[in-house]
Amino acid sequence: AEKPPTSRSQPRWVRINTLKSSLEQELATTFKAYRTDSNVAEVSSLLGSEKVLAIDHTIPDLIALPPEADVTKTQSYKDGRVILQDKASCFPACMLIGDDDEAGTVRDCIDGCAAPGNKTSHLAALLAEHVSTKNKVYACERDPSRSKILKAMMVKSGAKTVIVQSECDFLTLDPYAAQYQDVTHVLLDPSCSGSGIVGREDIPILALPDDCKATQRQTQNGSASSKKRKRDHVAPIPVAIAMEESAQAEETREVAVDKTRLQKLSNLQTRIVEHALSFPATVQVSYSTCSVHIEENEAVVARVLASAIAKELGWKLLGREGQVKGLRSWPHRGVSSADLMASKAIDGNSMLNEEELESCIRCNPGDEEGTMGFFVCCFTRSAPAAKDAA
Ligand code: SAM
Repeated sequence: AEKPPTSRSQPRWVRINTLKSSLEQELATTFKAYRTDSNVAEVSSLLGSEKVLAIDHTIPDLIALPPEADVTKTQSYKDGRVILQDKASCFPACMLIGDDDEAGTVRDCIDGCAAPGNKTSHLAALLAEHVSTKNKVYACERDPSRSKILKAMMVKSGAKTVIVQSECDFLTLDPYAAQYQDVTHVLLDPSCSGSGIVGREDIPILALPDDCKATQRQTQNGSASSKKRKRDHVAPIPVAIAMEESAQAEETREVAVDKTRLQKLSNLQTRIVEHALSFPATVQVSYSTCSVHIEENEAVVARVLASAIAKELGWKLLGREGQVKGLRSWPHRGVSSADLMASKAIDGNSMLNEEELESCIRCNPGDEEGTMGFFVCCFTRSAPAAKDAA
C-alpha cells in the first residue's frame, strides 16, 4: 500500500529535457491527466498516485510531482525527454549561462566533474536555447565506470554537442591546449561529502544500455574502489542510477563527517576551482556541492578568492544582481560571517565580505522549497584582452 508522505517530504523533481521535448509537449502528453495549478507544498503532501503537479517558478522547464510518483515507466522517461533531477541540481547550469547571451560572451564550455551528466545535459540544453547549437561542451570524468554512464546519458539525452572525455582527470587538462582556447565557461561540481542529500531511499532504476548494466552488475558485486567511493561521494554504479535523480544521490549520506576528511575534500575542491580559473579565455566558473558543510562551500570560495591566481587575474564572485532572474530572488544565501569565522575553516586573511556571502546560494534540506541541501556560486572576471588570452 502507498505510504502517505509526511508534510515535509521532498517532491519528485522532473526536468523537461528541452533538447528533445518542451514543457508544453510534456504537459499535453505524459502529464495530460495532471492538474497543473498546484504548488510544492501541496504536491509534497500527496500520494504518488495523485495526478497533480507544480510548475516551478525558479527554474524553467522543471516540475514537481508527489514524492512517490514514478515516471520511470513513462515513454518520455525511457526516451530521455524527461530527466529526474533535483531542483537545486539545476541551479549551476542556470547560474553559469544565465539568460540570452546578448553580449555574445559564451563560446565553448567544460564540465570538469561530469558523471552521470545531469548538469552536462542541462548545460547543453541551455546553450542550445540561449546561445547556439554550435557551442561544444567538453565533459570530463575521471572514474572509468562513471565515464561509461556519462556517455550513455549523453546519448539518451540527445546532447550531441557534448564531447565526453572519459577517464580524464580535470586537473591534468592543459589550459593552453588548442581545443580549450575558446572555453569561456566552466561548470564544476566536484566530489563532496554528500551531506546535503536526505531521504530518497526509493531511487528508481534508470533504463540503461546493456553495457552499462553489465558494469552496474560488476560494481554491485563489489569492486576495489567501492570503499573509497563511499567516502568521497562518488557513487558506485548501482545506486549511481540514483545519480539521474539528484546526480549526487548516492548512499554516501553521512551523518558525521570528520574534520580531517572535510579538510581533504576542501583542499581538492579548491585545487579544482583554481585550475579552472587558469584557462585563458574563461570568464565564468560555477562551483557547486551537495554538501551543507562550510568547509566545502563558503570556505572553498574564500580560499579561492584569496589565491594568487584569482588575485592576479581579477576573479571575483558573480553578485546577486548579476544572477539570472529566478536565482536572484532565491532567499537562502551564504552563511553569516560569524558562522564562517566560527567554523575555523579559513584564516582571518581570506574572510568573505557581506556582499560575497550574499553572492553564494544555499539550499537547505527540509526547507519549504523542497530541495536537497546544496551550495552554488559563480566566479567571474572581465574578458581578458586578446593578447592575454592568446
Ligand atoms: N555534475 C554531475 C551531475 O550533475 O550529474 C555530478 C558530479 S559528482 C558530484 C562528481 C563527479 O566528479 C564524480 O563522477 C567524480 O568521479 C568526478 N570527479 C571528481 N574529481 C574529478 C577530477 N579531478 N577530474 C574529473 N572528474 C572528477
